[in-house]
Amino acid sequence: MKITTIPQKNIGIAVSKKPDSACVDKNCPYHGTIRVRGMQFTGTVLSASAQKTVTVSWERKYFVKKYDRYQRRYTKVLAHNPKCINAQLGDIVRIAETRPLSKGKHFVVIEVTGRAKHEELDQMVSLQQERSERKKGKLQDEKAKGDQ
Ligand SMILES: [Zn+2]
Repeated sequence: MKITTIPQKNIGIAVSKKPDSACVDKNCPYHGTIRVRGMQFTGTVLSASAQKTVTVSWERKYFVKKYDRYQRRYTKVLAHNPKCINAQLGDIVRIAETRPLSKGKHFVVIEVTGRAKHEELDQMVSLQQERSERKKGKLQDEKAKGDQ
C-alpha cells in the first residue's frame, strides 16, 4: 500500500506559515518523528550548501566591562533543513531545539520568516570567511612548528 498523503503534525509551536508541501524526511518536525523542545532562536542562513543542513547565525551582545560598552558577537549553529521548508542562503529562519540529529546538529528549521538585507548577509558571510581563514592559518602555523 502506498501512502499518498503524509499527515502534518502540530509541532506545538505557533508558526506564521506551515509548509505547503509534504516530505518523507524522518527528521522533519511536521512530517517526521522528531519532537521539538527547548530553546528557540531566529537567525540568518549563512550557508545552505550542505544536504538538509543549514548554518544559522545571529547577533548577540557581549558586555565589555573595561570599555563599558557592548561588543557585537555572533552565534553560529547547524540546523536541520527539511525539504518541505527548504531554507535558502540569506533567509531569516526560526529554529527550535530538538534531540541531537548528528554530532553537531540539534536544531531544526521550523519556518522561514523573511530575507536578510544584502549588506547584513555580506557582512556576516565575510566575517565567517575571515574567521575560518584565520583558523586555517593558525593550524598551518602549528603544523609548521611540528615539522621543524
Ligand atoms: Zn516535512
